[in-house]
Amino acid sequence: MQSILKFTYFCRMILTDTHTHLYAEEFDLDRDQMMQRAILKGVSRFFVPAVNSTCTQAMYELEEKYPENVFLMAGLHPCYVKENYQEELVHIENQLSGRKFTAIGEIGIDLYWDKSTLGIQKIAFKHQIQLAKKYKLPIVIHCRESFDEIFEVLESERSDDLFGVFHCFTGNFEQAQQAISLNMKLGIGGVVTFKNGKIDQFLHQIDLKHLVLETDSPYLAPVPFRGKRNESSYVYLVAEKLASVYGVSIETVARITTENSKAIFGI
Ligand SMILES: [Zn+2]
Repeated sequence: MQSILKFTYFCRMILTDTHTHLYAEEFDLDRDQMMQRAILKGVSRFFVPAVNSTCTQAMYELEEKYPENVFLMAGLHPCYVKENYQEELVHIENQLSGRKFTAIGEIGIDLYWDKSTLGIQKIAFKHQIQLAKKYKLPIVIHCRESFDEIFEVLESERSDDLFGVFHCFTGNFEQAQQAISLNMKLGIGGVVTFKNGKIDQFLHQIDLKHLVLETDSPYLAPVPFRGKRNESSYVYLVAEKLASVYGVSIETVARITTENSKAIFGI
């Protein structure tokens, strides 16, 4: 009886995965089962970032199949900023003018994979920030080995209508404060469960109202699945870790972070 009660209560908790690549080919064999597993765990809101135009069709199909659960972004990921980036930006503008999106993402700068494209990465990032302002949408930032460069662009665009999520936040306390001062929530995922993840050491100094949960699935699976395929149901493990960092219940973490996601995405 107790387990039934617990299960019912558990299902009432709403967890939000603010960053999940549901269309990734890693899920081609079991996508529906994977999503059902997540929904059973209380993860019923999936925010899906784009990387470039090749994923657009698959994203629309997912949204059509799960209209209550799947919310789409449009955007050009910094690792896909190549010679054709201007065509990709036109594709995004066409998408934005044609229908509703919940955010521009994921966008930003990545100096881990390719430093040679820094110039055009910056141009594409700034351009997409301006599109977000035009369409009154939040941005979802991808930052890898590029905090200084990202902040340089963000500071040049600082304004009340700039807001969003610093996805997979891995910075230090000062960088967290700067991101928050730029109207950004910090996207917390599997890294917070890693032994060398570092952010768990200062997170308690940051109010839960500034955090949202994410997986970045199929990447960055939390402990004990580190190194394996990640999936949205594992948001539960991130929430559990935050509950212990903040000394609150997992239900409290779910409620506050889902409210935060609604405040950003308007849905
Ligand atoms: Zn991502």
